[in-house]
Amino acid sequence: MTVAVKTFARLADAASAVSTERGARFLAGGTLLMRAVNEADPSIETIVRSTDPAFVHVAVSSARVELGAGATMAAILAERELSFLHRVARAVGGPAVREAATVGGNLFAPSPYGDFAVALLALDATVTLAGGYGQRELPLDELLAGRERGASLVSKIAFRRPPGETFRFATVTRVHPKGLSVLSIAALLPLTNARIAGARIAYGAMGHTPLRAKAAERALEGRALDAAGIAPALAVAADGTSPRDDAIASAWWRREILPVHLRRLLLGVDQV
Ligand SMILES: Cc1cc2nc3c(=O)[nH]c(=O)nc-3n(C[C@H](O)[C@H](O)[C@H](O)COP(=O)(O)OP(=O)(O)OC[C@H]3O[C@@H](n4cnc5c(N)ncnc54)[C@H](O)[C@@H]3O)c2cc1C
Repeated sequence: MTVAVKTFARLADAASAVSTERGARFLAGGTLLMRAVNEADPSIETIVRSTDPAFVHVAVSSARVELGAGATMAAILAERELSFLHRVARAVGGPAVREAATVGGNLFAPSPYGDFAVALLALDATVTLAGGYGQRELPLDELLAGRERGASLVSKIAFRRPPGETFRFATVTRVHPKGLSVLSIAALLPLTNARIAGARIAYGAMGHTPLRAKAAERALEGRALDAAGIAPALAVAADGTSPRDDAIASAWWRREILPVHLRRLLLGVDQV
């Protein structure tokens, strides 16, 4: 079976091709897609690429971060202003994978992959979809909920830069220093008068896609980040999750260890 490769200078034209060509798939870093091509996945008939410089552009100001969807984990690690995301980028594969793996591709990576998407969900990111007839912006939650439908091309991801030390991320693995995530947790923890005001917590590998821990977020509202303050959130940590059994861990075990690691993250105790 032959696979056609089509390269476009403009993202808008690549987006048109993704939605109109038969069996078209967009190629970013290729760490997942090329495996499917090499395994002769019959659903892939055309590979669409773009050399548009906007696709890899990263812009960081004091208030806002914009990441071209084609920015790699290595590019994130090279940007000092994005140091709050370095732990997240380092959680994705080994050095060779990080050179190719893109932020946009991570939004479509099946569970338990998707560590970067978990962080972006906690950061309340929006995604911009490129299209032949213009662009459209939508919340990341919405993209994740409909991502199986495919045929859309993410050009950019944007979010408010988190103030101070308000953003935290942890990934739990059984193989050290770096194995697949048993689960990952990201949290944005804004404080007003030493009380949580508007926390956002997201999990990876606790459902079909990265998901919000809405019950835990509600339980944290107005509470202090100490053992007594976070206890109600830990009690509902696994509410709304639907982890799966896989080769890395059972669903039961994921639910068991989730509050342990959420506790460490909220109290600022470094993970082992
Ligand atoms: C050895 C190995 C270890 C890994 N470890 C981890 C890990 O620890 N954590 C983790 O999160 N992931 C991991 N991954 C998975 C993967 O490398 C990352 O999720 C990566 O970010 C995927 O991005 P990519 O650019 O390579 O995607 P690609 O392989 O290019 O694409 C993947 C899918 O996303 C679609 N896609 C890509 N970009 C876009 C876009 N801009 N708009 C719309 N659709 C798009 C493609 O069409 C395809 O269906 C690992 C992979 C390997 C091979």
